[in-house]
Amino acid sequence: MATIDGLPPLRDVIRDHELVAKKQLGQNFLLDLNLTAKIARQAGDLTACDVLEVGPGPGGLTRGLLAEGARRVLAVEKDARCLPALAEVADAYPGRLEVINGDALEVDAPALLNAPIRVVANLPYNVGTELLVRWLTPKQWPPFWESLTLMFQKEVAERIVAKPGSKAYGRLALLAQWRADARIVLTLPPEAFTPPPKIHSAVVHLTRLDQPRFPADAAVLSRITAMGFNQRRKMLRSSLKGLTPDIEDRLRAAGIEPTARAEEIPLEGFCALAREVAK
Ligand code: SAM
Repeated sequence: MATIDGLPPLRDVIRDHELVAKKQLGQNFLLDLNLTAKIARQAGDLTACDVLEVGPGPGGLTRGLLAEGARRVLAVEKDARCLPALAEVADAYPGRLEVINGDALEVDAPALLNAPIRVVANLPYNVGTELLVRWLTPKQWPPFWESLTLMFQKEVAERIVAKPGSKAYGRLALLAQWRADARIVLTLPPEAFTPPPKIHSAVVHLTRLDQPRFPADAAVLSRITAMGFNQRRKMLRSSLKGLTPDIEDRLRAAGIEPTARAEEIPLEGFCALAREVAK
């Protein structure tokens, strides 16, 4: 059956290149090109953007990004078995796809891209959270990316967008929402993938803010949230007592009851406390 880009259907690509999925590489492939185009569209208008894709695999999402008009795609794939299939995609879109065979945790991709840059990926679940944390905690803000459109295990996606008072609320929510707008734009059942994973998945779209939502020192904020959520059921006056001897006064000065728990405190409160502690 013909496809929109004249390339073979992904099922044929996988068969012809013998891409038997490897569990240790988090390989659950998307084979429906309508779905991959839909995910690509969640990243907004790509026509004037360079796109970084992590883990293109047989190239389903890559084809979606290119068909949706991405100016250029840089795709970093660890599994060398995928390279011949990706070379066929590059031939169909001359000059617009570059593939690097390597580990996304080690490749300095931003150095190879031109602004504006968007990141779009159906991430390998084993490295997804680590990459997100890295992208949210660069040495300098604003970061190299304008937006991140990323597939996660649904529970992780819920932790990224969680609000105070919910079970999912914690460090990941604070980190993401401090310097970005984050929302779930799509949820996918296991059957959307080949082979189907045991879990549901969701696509999160994060748009960077030029300035953090509330002022705070990144290192102090990170320390406070780590201590607060490591013992999330404890009152803050006890979970944060190692921070400074007058923690109760600092909490009050930040407008927080010392008996409150981390999961009740909104981002604004944590930033106010970080400013008090840094004084
Ligand atoms: N993008 C494809 C799709 O949507 O069908 C494949 C997604 S699959 C969930 C994850 C891909 O990431 C696999 O192709 C896997 O080989 C690749 N991968 C796993 N670990 C990686 C790493 N550290 N760096 C780069 N790619 C990696």
